[in-house]
Amino acid sequence: MISIVCPFYNEQDVVAAFFGRLIPVLNETQEEFEIICINDGSSDNTLLGLLAAQGRYRGVRIVDLSRNYGKEAALTAGLDIARGDAVIPIDADLQDPPELIPRLLEKWREGFEVVLAQRANRSKDDWFKSHSAGWFYRVHNRLANVQLAENVGDFRLMDRCVVEAIRQLPERQRFMKGIFAWVGFRTSAVEYVRETRTGGATKFSGWRLWNLALEGITSFSTMPLRVWTYAGVLVAGASLLYGAFIIIYTLIEGIKLPGYASLLVVVTFLGGLQLIGLGVIGEYLGRTYTEAKQRPVYIVRKTHEPGGQ
Ligand code: UDP
Ligand code: MG
Repeated sequence: MISIVCPFYNEQDVVAAFFGRLIPVLNETQEEFEIICINDGSSDNTLLGLLAAQGRYRGVRIVDLSRNYGKEAALTAGLDIARGDAVIPIDADLQDPPELIPRLLEKWREGFEVVLAQRANRSKDDWFKSHSAGWFYRVHNRLANVQLAENVGDFRLMDRCVVEAIRQLPERQRFMKGIFAWVGFRTSAVEYVRETRTGGATKFSGWRLWNLALEGITSFSTMPLRVWTYAGVLVAGASLLYGAFIIIYTLIEGIKLPGYASLLVVVTFLGGLQLIGLGVIGEYLGRTYTEAKQRPVYIVRKTHEPGGQ
């Protein structure tokens, strides 16, 4: 059986179109399938649309979350209830073309445990998004000890063994791209061209993307913490040298008073440096705090299974 996992957050405009394109593709594969729709606390009529689709098509399971937990938590909820031998997360807005699914399945049958859907290019993204994404991957892959494949989103196929591995990761703050990459497994990729959204609006503004990027880096790297050791050693070394210089200078030239400007610069510079260092430590402390609370990643209001159970 194949599980399709799709998070929905205020996607009432695209629900019908989504099933309209997905169902024919799935029927053609001749496989048994289930479509797991996670309603991530939508405030519009998304749930009604999903329930209508459940009445119309077979294999539709709906997980209704108690509020908006974010896409990463919604995906986690989907992976938790998926029963398929292969699981495919896909976006609701049809930016991940369902027509690619047969090609993902083909690679899977060849023996790959993970099949990535890789974007051939970012031509459909605006300038800001494609450049910021490029920078994020460069910085992340430099700092973190898992390498994220570039131009790969959450759209991919994962074998059951991969899903079981992912479910063993207990962290509460779930940066799924990193988690997917961390578990490894035999991986292959299939290329596709990403379309623009069919309807509705993107849920990821610049600020939310920025936070997701920080989340990604702090989830999989402690480099930003370690950097402060080096900064400290460097600054302390420089001040020792400067101290030695002053002593020698005083022995030769005697004491002169002026120099409050340079003092002020050094003091404020060091103050700023310390605040940045504190901020970074605070960031990690905050993460430790949320992990220590051990709250569940999401709460389900109700699971609507097909046939109305
Ligand atoms: N999404 C979600 N919860 C959120 C934000 C987004 O479940 O808090 C879902 C959304 O409904 C869509 C997918 O995540 O199915 C991708 O969102 P979007 O298309 O807005 O992101 P983009 O493609 O612009 O990066
Ligand atoms: Mg989208």
